[in-house]
Amino acid sequence: MGDKSHVMPTYNRSPLAFERGEGAWLFTESGEAYLDFASGIAVNALGHSHQGLIAALTEQANRLWHTSNLYTIPGQESLSDRLCALTFADQVFFCNSGAEAMEGAIKTARKYFAAKGEAERYEILTFTGAFHGRTMVTLAAAGNQAYLDGFGPVPQGFTQLNGFDLDLVEQAVGPQTAAILIEPVQGEGGIMPVPTEFLRGLRALCDKHDLLLIVDEVQCGVGRTGRLFAHEWAGISPDIMAVAKGIGGGFPLGAFLATERAASGMVPGTHGSTYGGNPLAVAVGAKVLDIVSDEGFLAEVERLGLLLKQKLAGLKDRFPDIIAEIRGEGLMLGVKTVPLNSDMVAALREAKLLTVGAGDNVVRLIPPLTITDADVEAALASLEAACMKLQAVTDRDQSQ
Ligand code: PLP
Repeated sequence: MGDKSHVMPTYNRSPLAFERGEGAWLFTESGEAYLDFASGIAVNALGHSHQGLIAALTEQANRLWHTSNLYTIPGQESLSDRLCALTFADQVFFCNSGAEAMEGAIKTARKYFAAKGEAERYEILTFTGAFHGRTMVTLAAAGNQAYLDGFGPVPQGFTQLNGFDLDLVEQAVGPQTAAILIEPVQGEGGIMPVPTEFLRGLRALCDKHDLLLIVDEVQCGVGRTGRLFAHEWAGISPDIMAVAKGIGGGFPLGAFLATERAASGMVPGTHGSTYGGNPLAVAVGAKVLDIVSDEGFLAEVERLGLLLKQKLAGLKDRFPDIIAEIRGEGLMLGVKTVPLNSDMVAALREAKLLTVGAGDNVVRLIPPLTITDADVEAALASLEAACMKLQAVTDRDQSQ
């Protein structure tokens, strides 16, 4: 690397660079250790250098990397069988990222109505504060103006609703409405769990008005909340679901899943991807799913999440000037801070704990699902150090 980076500067990157990882820990070239409660933004579900994933990937890498979707990919067949056995879904399309999974989910919903002669029903109701990706259509779905500015005409067919209010949703349903799209726990929006009753209400509204319910589980799915998929907490079944991040454990893999009915328009020629679900990706995905779908594994995520949440509540009591609120489920927790969340993320990084900022002034704690009690203790020590540092700044500011 010369003086000036040639990487397009769309990210405000930290100069920190890592050389290797092990479990929940990342190491710089000089050997400094950081506890990773960011997991590459909720991706490394099984931590770093997981031996089972390394074995699955290298075994496949030694046999075959890529053939394209023109041929049957046995790994896709078995992974989709497994995903459908574990969920509401009957069909799976594999892709490479969350935004692509969401694009496919949206296309599936629109095509369902077009195929039954109701092409005018293409509108999808979405919610303020959501994040569905950075492609034009997924940006349009979330409707965050800051992300849309300067990129030309916004694709049509999305209406954002403010708050989780069933009456508002029902009033917004019209002759053009095709679907309702929601993240069961908003991730980028600031770890905002959607009330269970609201999710149940959406399911009922979809049934009443013949709409499709799409859940975006790109961030909250694959065990992160202590259930395989977060909508399971509400005991509901969506019609379509987008998945990515955790499912590949760090290998790029996404998928959208649908019931047979919802996928009925997706016939040959309607969608495609060169790389989607290539043999390497699905070999890793199958291993991740095997491990994460185990009841004992999910129970442990729930236990560790409760332990961490309890300890965070203790910290909030001790530092009310620093921590305003703790929220989230399982190992998808949000700490809403009183000072700027970016100051907290920086103070935590100094204390060797990696976290991610989110909307609503929240710091996300989204560690590997394989953390140990000792990792929770280590994270708490860093959180305490960061709170003390920010408290000292607050005290100094107040005395001036
Ligand atoms: N949907 C949700 C809920 C997400 O959190 C994200 C990414 O953060 C996406 C979609 C987009 O995923 P990707 O960045 O893999 O395209």
